[in-house]
Amino acid sequence: MSLLAILGGSPIRTTPFPVYSTLGDEEKRAVMGVLDSGNLSGFLGTWSPQFFGGPQVRQLEDEWQQYFDVTYAVTMNSATSALCAAVGAAGVGPGDEVIVSPITMTASASAALAYGAIPVFADIDAETFNITAKTIEERITPQTRAIVAVDILGHPADMDEIMALAEKHDLVVIEDAAQAPGATYKGRFAGTLAHIGVFSLNYHKTIHTGEGGVAVTDDAEFAERLQLIRNHAEAVVEGKRTTSLVNMVGFNYRMTEIEAAIGSAQLKKLDGLLNSRIAAADYLSQRISGIPGLLPPLVKPDVKHGYYLYAIRYDANEIGISRETFAEAVRAEGVPLATSYAPPLYYMPLYQNRIAFGEHGFPFTYEGYKGSVSYERGICPVAERMWESDVMVGNFCHAAVETTDLDDVASALEKVVSEARTLGGHGALAVDASRMVENGAA
Ligand SMILES: *Cc1c(COP(=O)(O)O)cnc(C)c1O
Repeated sequence: MSLLAILGGSPIRTTPFPVYSTLGDEEKRAVMGVLDSGNLSGFLGTWSPQFFGGPQVRQLEDEWQQYFDVTYAVTMNSATSALCAAVGAAGVGPGDEVIVSPITMTASASAALAYGAIPVFADIDAETFNITAKTIEERITPQTRAIVAVDILGHPADMDEIMALAEKHDLVVIEDAAQAPGATYKGRFAGTLAHIGVFSLNYHKTIHTGEGGVAVTDDAEFAERLQLIRNHAEAVVEGKRTTSLVNMVGFNYRMTEIEAAIGSAQLKKLDGLLNSRIAAADYLSQRISGIPGLLPPLVKPDVKHGYYLYAIRYDANEIGISRETFAEAVRAEGVPLATSYAPPLYYMPLYQNRIAFGEHGFPFTYEGYKGSVSYERGICPVAERMWESDVMVGNFCHAAVETTDLDDVASALEKVVSEARTLGGHGALAVDASRMVENGAA
């Protein structure tokens, strides 16, 4: 067989991988139109018609409502802002616990901290990498107030079961669909399956506005509170005659007119961009499914996967070398395979040291908090194994990629699997930074 590139052989591929870009003339025209209007933002932080933003913001919200079939869409300047606003709108506060996946972007959990609440991590399913009703139920305590379910890597969580559990325990569910715009679950869109859903429009998501986010809900009260938190709630509640002042401290989470106009152009492209991802992933999965020791992403019945990233499950026993060595060898073949997605969030210094706001450990040490959360290693074994050994990810499946690129991915994987024994004793090469997917973890 052929000599592995990492051992001096010739690599499968020497040209760089195509870079994903979603911008074109439509976005240019949209931006110029806003510039010509002279109106870069239409928001006023007082109770007036301008409280809801300018014409582009309102148009994008209308279009988002129609596309996703939701009653309210509230644009924000990021999904991080939208997650914070969602936790605030849910009425979460100090003393509360919010159950969340450890395998996600940091804001899924830190949104709870922003309201003085305690993130509690529930383990993931080994095939979809999402938290489940079962793992969530194990974490419910009298302090539990809300759940943040993440549709990680683009595969929707099993939201019907999670919603049924939440109803039983009277919990608010926030669905973080930042990675899953357009993905579906039982015919309904990811992001619309919980009390409040959140989308991201940052520049490495499927569609984007540079920075941006959208929160959606069918509940009028949640929608109003999202709008208030987005736009200086404390200055508006009097004029608006809002009855409850809970979490009515507002921020400036407002989207600009330029971003909104780009968002409208991007939303029109979502179907096509998503279909390209799915076609690429289906092709690659077919090629990978015959390779011993590797498993392509699982797609549950009744699910349309969003393929934000393409995850390959790895069996080190079958292949005979560590995942780190394997991924390093694949990268040497010219294929950008990341060793893993991101570590469980509780590995971060914030949780290990329990220092968030101020010097005294708030909210972990808050005397009104009656629970006892653990962030020790071992609390979510499946998530830890995903990070340590079981899963590799690549940003291979998107609109810029051609079949020949995917053939290179498959060929590199095949080559390294079949020559793995020639790497015996070739360990400890991995650089820790290379374990993070190139641009997926931010
Ligand atoms: C990207 C992302 C976010 C944050 O999105 P921003 O718009 O960058 O704030 C939140 N959650 C998940 C799962 C993400 O992937």
